[in-house]
Amino acid sequence: MNHVLDQLQRPLRDLRISVTDRCNFRCSYCMPAEVFGPDFAFLPNDKILSFEEIERLVKIFVQLGVKKIRITGGEPLLRIDLPKLVGMINEVEGVEDIAMTTNGTLLKKYAQQLKDAGLVRVSVSLDSLDEERFLDMNGRRGKVKTVLEGIEKAAEVGLQVKINMVVKKGKNEQDIVQMAEFFKEKQHILRYIEYMDVGNSNGWKLDDVVEKKDIVEQVNAFSPLEKVAPNYKGEVASRYEYKDKKTEIGVISSVTDSFCSSCSRARISAEGKLYTCLFATKGTDLRELLRSDKDDKAISTSISSVWENRKDRYSDERNEQTMEERKKSKIEMSHIGG
Ligand code: SAM
Ligand code: SF4
Ligand code: SF4
Repeated sequence: MNHVLDQLQRPLRDLRISVTDRCNFRCSYCMPAEVFGPDFAFLPNDKILSFEEIERLVKIFVQLGVKKIRITGGEPLLRIDLPKLVGMINEVEGVEDIAMTTNGTLLKKYAQQLKDAGLVRVSVSLDSLDEERFLDMNGRRGKVKTVLEGIEKAAEVGLQVKINMVVKKGKNEQDIVQMAEFFKEKQHILRYIEYMDVGNSNGWKLDDVVEKKDIVEQVNAFSPLEKVAPNYKGEVASRYEYKDKKTEIGVISSVTDSFCSSCSRARISAEGKLYTCLFATKGTDLRELLRSDKDDKAISTSISSVWENRKDRYSDERNEQTMEERKKSKIEMSHIGG
């Protein structure tokens, strides 16, 4: 084991792996249809990391301190045979937790296989229970019912389920309380996500962000909440339990209450680039290393040096930046998967 610390003394603990840059949704805040249209050039198969390459990287990252793996995308369940990859990662000694973020459209079909392969947790994105508003948010691609069926199936097979709701002003803020009510009743943890300025395609404006304090205020008025401590250091969501204790909610407030000081996450894009921040402007090409004659030790040394030089704290710095600085070409969310 050769655990590494970055320039701000943050360890490397979590690895988020994007397994595809494709998606069957066109969420306006992530892959707007105007940008990701029918002619958009997605990655060809040979440019995407194979399962064996991903497995090799997981083994290397575990030696550097990673314990938790999250599979994401694009839409990860579009990747053929995904449960097989989960099984391969599950076999790697030192991996303590495997999670996935998905839009839920294919979850009903794959939940059992994923569970059998070793998936522990699933975060399902759902921005509204109102059909029309959901269609408006996802580029008119998917139905609420399909996602809810995916959620129920996942819970039924024994996966731990959380719901992710991105809140965008003027789009779905009216759904904050209805979503809270619905998922409190179902006893699933709902996590509100402040709309973030990831990538360059979504035309982000600060005015479109519904702030954490407003979200908490609204839910608290529906059913009183109390703040609870994080489950572990570096947990991204601030947690609040309902006082009548049926379940809890979380808020991921990257914009108004950042959490860079405890950020221990590395991200790998579908094409095998390593990013040390969600808002990074450039990554390190691991695919080239994997496909060269370099051995695991050499690749591990390259990854350590990237992490040891890491100084990222974009969300902490966001408010100090000018619009021009913010517009630097950032990696798209659909490439690294949140
Ligand atoms: N397709 C899967 C899904 O939607 O769950 C996985 C990939 S998606 C990029 C991962 C998460 O990022 C989702 O929960 C999505 O809602 C969130 N996300 C995407 N763009 C975002 C943005 N601009 N601000 C906040 N969250 C965003
Ligand atoms: Fe697809 Fe997820 Fe992005 Fe929506 S948030 S476009 S479902 S990758
Ligand atoms: Fe981590 Fe970058 Fe997000 Fe800060 S802005 S929490 S460093 S991913």
